[in-house]
Amino acid sequence: MLRAASKAVGHSVRRSAAAPSVAARSFSVSQAAWSEPPVNSLDSFTEEEQMLRESVARFAQDVVAPKVREMDENEMMDPTVVKGLFEQGLMGIETSSEFGGAESSFTSAIIAIEELAKVDPSVSVLCDVHNTLVNTILRKYANKEQQQKWLPLLSESKLGSFCLSEAASGSDAFALQTRAVKDGDHWVINGSKMWITNSYEADVFLIFANADPSKGYKGITCFIATKDMGIEIAKKEQKLGIRASSTCSLSFDDLRVPEENVIGGVGKGYKIAIEILNEGRIGIAAQMLGLAQGAFEKAVPYTLQRTQFGQPVGTFQGLSFQQARAATEIEAARLLTYNAARRKEEGRPFVQQAAMAKLYASEVAQRVSGAAIEWAGGVGFTRETGIEKYWRDSKIGAIYEGTSNIQLLTIAKLIQKQYS
Ligand SMILES: Cc1cc2nc3c(=O)[nH]c(=O)nc-3n(C[C@H](O)[C@H](O)[C@H](O)COP(=O)(O)OP(=O)(O)OC[C@H]3O[C@@H](n4cnc5c(N)ncnc54)[C@H](O)[C@@H]3O)c2cc1C
Repeated sequence: MLRAASKAVGHSVRRSAAAPSVAARSFSVSQAAWSEPPVNSLDSFTEEEQMLRESVARFAQDVVAPKVREMDENEMMDPTVVKGLFEQGLMGIETSSEFGGAESSFTSAIIAIEELAKVDPSVSVLCDVHNTLVNTILRKYANKEQQQKWLPLLSESKLGSFCLSEAASGSDAFALQTRAVKDGDHWVINGSKMWITNSYEADVFLIFANADPSKGYKGITCFIATKDMGIEIAKKEQKLGIRASSTCSLSFDDLRVPEENVIGGVGKGYKIAIEILNEGRIGIAAQMLGLAQGAFEKAVPYTLQRTQFGQPVGTFQGLSFQQARAATEIEAARLLTYNAARRKEEGRPFVQQAAMAKLYASEVAQRVSGAAIEWAGGVGFTRETGIEKYWRDSKIGAIYEGTSNIQLLTIAKLIQKQYS
């Protein structure tokens, strides 16, 4: 679907040349002028991006929605959902068409993650990690032969995972203990990873290991490996939320990886991980944004149907003002997220904006999904409506790809740099 949309309208992120200027529209009172989005507003999209949003929303409703509760209860991703994501062209969104991808914008990936999260944040994070971490590392740092070998697989059928965290290294990620030792034309990896998203279903693993501990974090190196090389799933976590998204511990026991599977050069893993997580955070912001919107859209219509004291409960000021505030916060999260995405895609500084977007969107997701349970009263507390699931799923936004404190640390450091 995305491939077809790309072909039909190209993949430029430029705004439509036919749209009227802001000044021209400011003085116009015609209905047509008011109904068009402002040219430079953060929520104006190219035709391709708009088509993508519609097709992902359709896929989410038709294919994902009927399976959400079952996947959550079983703590298992349905393989037909993953297959569907590949078939829709959603697993190589930014990957060049030469390697089987859709060759779309970064904002397109953000839109897809957001739309999927409205229906299921677990499916959203599967798509997010695969696109914004795994594919992006290969697109940015792999050599041509590596791209030719891996990107088509990742666009068409093989799921990827990003293996950085360990039991003793979370926020302090570069204290990792996994080691890689050269042995002829192979590297031998020993150690373990924890909390690895997608790892239960994945075939392709990007593994960060230290190839020269004497150099500290400058010895960290990124390797690409496949499950059949001997990666062992040690434990699948049972979680509060995003339960259909697999999160496992992995162990590497003399895992032999060919020399040509080093990505970006020996010792470059630190730079790769930092740079990729800086932009990956915008994906988590989009996941949290979609989640907040999804919870809002489930609960508000119910409050306008449910009658107490002779009127819909959503028309009591006590509820309607809460909903007005929630809608405002979602809008603010949306603009922070799209702004960070556009800045990244236009090559402008974006690290502070990305950290702010993730921090704020995850707070909004928690607040809105928590309030949505209360707006729906008793039924909001049951698993039947699916509202409580959004709240359970929202908690992870403040933890992975840098906790909220780590986002505050990043923002604070950049403020200090700016003012000192
Ligand atoms: C569901 C799930 C999926 C994940 N997926 C992946 C994945 O795919 N790949 C991967 O590599 N990792 C993944 N992670 C790991 C995740 O990125 C880490 O859990 C996260 O970075 C936090 O690390 P930690 O859990 O060790 O917490 P800790 O680092 O131990 O933090 C505990 C608390 O201390 C605070 N803290 C730590 N340092 C500071 C500081 N300097 N200043 C102030 N406060 C601080 C934190 O904010 C937090 O509140 C996942 C985690 C989960 C739960």
